[in-house]
Formats: sequence, structure tokens, C-alpha cells
Amino acid sequence: MIRIIVITVLFLFITPVLISQTDQPKLVVGIVVDQMRSDHLYKYQDRFSNGGFKRLIREGYNFKNTLYNYIPTYTAPGHASIYSGATPSTHGIIGNTWYQRSTKQVVTNIGDTNELIVGTEEVNSYGASPRNLLSSTITDQLRMVTQFKSKVISVSIKDRGAILPGGHTANAAYWHDWKSSPGYFISSSYYMEELPKWVSNFNKSGKSDSYLKDSWSTLYPIDSYEASAADDNNYERAIGGKTSPTFPYDYESMRARYKEIGAEFQLIWVSPAGNSLLTDFAIEAIKNEKLGSNGVTDFINISYSVPDIIGHTFGPQSVEFEDVILRLDRDIENLLNSLDATIGNKNYLLFLTSDHGSVPVTAYLRDNKLPGGIAQIPQYQVNLTNHLNSKYGSGDWIEYFDGESVYLNHELIKQKKLSLSVVQRVVADYLITLDEITAALTASDLQTQSYSHGINQKLQKGYHSKRSGDVLIILKPAYVPNLNPKIASFQQMKGTTHGSGYAYDSHVPMLWFGNSIPNGESVRKVSVIDIAPSLSMFLNIPLPSGSEGEPLIELFD
Ligand SMILES: [Zn+2]
Repeated sequence: MIRIIVITVLFLFITPVLISQTDQPKLVVGIVVDQMRSDHLYKYQDRFSNGGFKRLIREGYNFKNTLYNYIPTYTAPGHASIYSGATPSTHGIIGNTWYQRSTKQVVTNIGDTNELIVGTEEVNSYGASPRNLLSSTITDQLRMVTQFKSKVISVSIKDRGAILPGGHTANAAYWHDWKSSPGYFISSSYYMEELPKWVSNFNKSGKSDSYLKDSWSTLYPIDSYEASAADDNNYERAIGGKTSPTFPYDYESMRARYKEIGAEFQLIWVSPAGNSLLTDFAIEAIKNEKLGSNGVTDFINISYSVPDIIGHTFGPQSVEFEDVILRLDRDIENLLNSLDATIGNKNYLLFLTSDHGSVPVTAYLRDNKLPGGIAQIPQYQVNLTNHLNSKYGSGDWIEYFDGESVYLNHELIKQKKLSLSVVQRVVADYLITLDEITAALTASDLQTQSYSHGINQKLQKGYHSKRSGDVLIILKPAYVPNLNPKIASFQQMKGTTHGSGYAYDSHVPMLWFGNSIPNGESVRKVSVIDIAPSLSMFLNIPLPSGSEGEPLIELFD
């Protein structure tokens, strides 16, 4: 009898533990490839290895029609949305930067004057944290549900690519410091007082330096890059230390030029070596933090920033961009092999997506008979001020205009006893007359109307009442805002950008792999905000506070 009771008691206590250990992934791996479009998965696939992107597609699940559902499509909002399951209207990360009315200053998404950078050799007085993120993330929920036993580590080349995915409670976020001379991975006093030993050791091993001792030549013979435009063309920017945007990139000789401007190790950011360096660092993080062997599910976010820098500099038609993706494919193969060996293929759950896409270079579009152009924002600002001066008398009517949203001078409007919503309407009515602008919605419109579809809805999902401007504009497809007064025509715009709600900026990869992920593909229209709620269902943990996505039912069939 006693034995039966003992066995029953043991069974009651042991069974749930056994279930959670066998069914749950030991590690979730989130990969964000900065500025990768959905079509890049197919455009270059003939020359992918068998163990990278092609393996994720072959053995995992591919959502081919994944679209961002808000404007603007930038890095910080993208990372915040992927991990929170919310849009900027809720999580508050409305851009990489935005204008703060209370201080009349532009703030950056992760900037925090209450913190300091940890691990840099530079003296600094300005740190970083996720405090501007207004909702919780899937990583926060995992930490809370396990009473903070789950470890969450987030790594990237960019600060925002590391900090936002970790949410408020990550054990650590690390990013690459191009300002300090040794090219270290650094963190913030928000997470720690000093870097752990393994990070210091990694830094001291001098990997950033040794990667820059190589020069960058194409992986395959350069004349075989038929998916891209010719290496030397008018659409690309020549980077520091080079006179043309062409291979090879001899870093040893370019370093001197970068060093002069105090940015020697920023070369890592415009090199495929940046992706390899980050992969090495992520593998070291998994090993040293013993991720996947804590008895609960751990989480690592890896955000690859280099494709974004290469895209901005050279554009998506470039041999440089193609080669960076081909080499990233090898880095991902290396990462998967390492995960298989240390965690075991069925013990980790992986997803891969992107924070936004990119628009083809304007001159490239025009040369090929496609629509596109630039919107001269400084000129708009002058014209708009003149318009308001003639209507209401002269004044500094516009506090800030970043090409997407106009922040009006509320004090002046009050002083002149004008109605804010009427002035907003006047501004919107003026802007809509400009040739490059398709839509102009006022803050009053966005606060009182509910847009149920289309581009207006996307704008509303990216609008935050406390942080956004008074009038938000949408340009015509493939028109990009130009804020640089020195650029007079589209021919002078080199490289690409992103930020719109159009397909080229919105359509991104979404691949799932490992653990219980079935094999298959879907063309159902889904969004990156569906990732976090899907993870909640897999892990049986609460939805992030602002989650508005839908679990991806195909993954649970
Ligand atoms: Zn980005």
C-alpha cells in the first residue's frame, strides 16, 4: 500500500516534468536578417549551400507571403514588433528615432541617459536600454513564467538589433562597438556592471581585428554573378578608402581611412566578416551561458546587421549584396551545425525573418522604365512654412519634419488661438497637393477614425498618440524622402533605403525549423507579429502584453 502511494506520488510529480522536458524546446533561436527581402531566398538559391537557407526551407516551414502590416518599416520597429507581437501603435517604437516634444529633441529608440555603456574603452556618458519599449516581449514572458530561470541572451552588430528582442528582462544584450579602437562586443549598465569573463576573453582574442586582415573578394568568380547588375555602376556608393564601388575590398589598405574618422572597426559593418564574427560570438554565448541545458527553455536572438549596411551602401542589385547573402548562408550553416552538435536538432526551435526589405535604387528603376523618384523634404518644409505664414501670419510653424511626419509648433498654435486639428487639416490639405505625396493623414484623423484596410490602416498601426507627429504622409510607390539638401536629383541618390508600407519594404522571409515544426510551405498572408503569439502557443506561456498577431495554425497541424 505504502509502495503504491509512493509510486503514485512520484508519478504525479515526475510526469509533468517528463512531459515538459521531452516536448518543449531546450532553446529557441530567433534570427533576424536586417534588410532581407522574401525574394532574396529564391533569387540566390542556386548557389546556397545545402546546410543553410536551403536546409531551413527543405526541412522546416516556409511562410512565403509574410508582410509587415504597419508603416514605417525600419530596424527598431521591426525588431520590437517581431518580439512583442504588437505594432508601433502599441509598443511605441515608431522609428529608429523620433522627435520628443517635451524636450524638443530627437531621441533614439534605445538611447537612455540613465545608463552607461559597459565594456567599451571609450569614456561615455550615454547608455542604452529597452525602456522606450512600452509592451512586453515573448522573451519577457518566458523569463517571467519560469521565475527568471530561463536565460535570454540577445546579440547583434547593431545596438537596437540586440536590445529590443531581449525585451525588458533579458540576461544580456551585446552589440558591436565600432567607436572603440579594439572593436569589442559591449553591453549596457541596464544589464550588468561589467562584461562576463567569456565576453572579455572573446574581445581580447582580437577577432574583429583578424577578420579585417582578410580582403573581401567574391565567393564565386565575379563574372558569374548574373543575379546582380555589373559590379561597377552608377547606383552604388564608393565607401571610404575606395574610388569605385568594386571588388576586391582590401581592408588592410582601407583601415587607415576609417581610422582617420575614428571608425576603424566600422569596416566590420560593411563586410561579410561582420556576420561571421557575430556567428562566432553567438556560438560562444550558447556554449558559455550553457543555453539549452538549464532544465527550462532558453532563448537566443541573433540579429545580422551587415546586409542592411551593404544594402544601404550598394543597393539590392549589387554584387556586394548578393555575395553578403551567399556568405551569410554559410554562416547560418555553421550556426545550425553547431546547434545540432550542442543542443540536438529536435531540441531547438528556430525562426528566421527580417525587420524590413528595401526599395530598388531610384536611378536603377528609372533607367529601366519603372516609376520611382525622390521627395525633397527640406523644400517641402520651406513651402509648407510659407503656406502657413500666408494663412496665419509668420512664425516657426514646423518643429520637425523627418520625411514621414510633421511635428507642428503646438505653443504657437495655442498662442494664436487656433484649433490644432484645423491647422493639422490645413497642413494635410496642402501636402496632398504635392506631386510625390499619395496620402496625408492628421493625428486627429488617426485618433478618431478606424481604418479597416489598405495603406491608411498600415499608417494607423504605426501611429502612436504620444510619440508621432501631427500629420503623417505617404509617398507614391518607390518614391523615397530625401533629407540631404546637397542631393538635387534622383541621379545623385546612391544605394537604397526602406521605411514605406509597399511590398518591397514589407515582404520578408519567415522560416521555422527544428523541434516540432512540420515540413511545408504556405502562401497565406501572414505578418511578423504572428511570430510571438505562435511561440506563446508552442511554449505554453502568456502572450506578450500588446500581442495582436494570430498563431500560425499551419505550424500546429
Ligand atoms: Zn533594419
